[in-house]
Amino acid sequence: MPALSSNPARPAAVVLLSGGLDSATTLAIAQASGYACHCLTVDYGQRHRAEINAAANLVRTLGADEHRVMQVQLGDFGGSALTDARIAVPTDGVAGGIPVTYVPARNTIMLALALAWAEVLPSGDIFVGVNAVDYSGYPDCRPEFIKAFEEMANLATKIAVEGTRLRIRAPLIGMSKAEIIRRGSELGVDFSLTVSCYQANDVGQACGVCDSCRLRRAGFSAAGIPDPTRYIG
Ligand code: ZN
Repeated sequence: MPALSSNPARPAAVVLLSGGLDSATTLAIAQASGYACHCLTVDYGQRHRAEINAAANLVRTLGADEHRVMQVQLGDFGGSALTDARIAVPTDGVAGGIPVTYVPARNTIMLALALAWAEVLPSGDIFVGVNAVDYSGYPDCRPEFIKAFEEMANLATKIAVEGTRLRIRAPLIGMSKAEIIRRGSELGVDFSLTVSCYQANDVGQACGVCDSCRLRRAGFSAAGIPDPTRYIG
């Protein structure tokens, strides 16, 4: 069984960090839990660069052992409003069904990249900020998906076969947006640094009308915490 860390009291974890509110809170939780955090931001060809900059700023303020940005051009496939400029981001309110902002297989791909890094570090823990309560109906944010990925990870890797149980940690999965905001605030997350908007401008200002903006704004309101989001206009 490989050593999981040179410092067993501070085991390594891979943290998927998009630069949004949820992943920022997830990083803060992982840090508070005593993990040496190795943050992975995937630049997948999303509409704007502001998220990537936000991730770097979060690492600076929350602290982490390492931050890597990996390029995977999902825009080559398109098929989502976030990766194909010809598909408009809906702004009329959160509707039923799976919206066009769903990015095909995004969380499967990102978790697979995190898994590869975890095996190299080595690390038995992967943190991801998926949330199944106040979300947009994405199938790859459900607990069943996380559980199935974890099972797959434990079948697919050398590290698991040699004795390390891999765990996909999704600490936000059962929390409401308001609960996530309260928890992040307690842990010192500066939410003004986070970008959740699907179509933020280059300096990270939010549109205020996409599904992600609406869920985020309602979350601050329900949490009773002032919304520090920088909106356009
Ligand atoms: Zn927006």
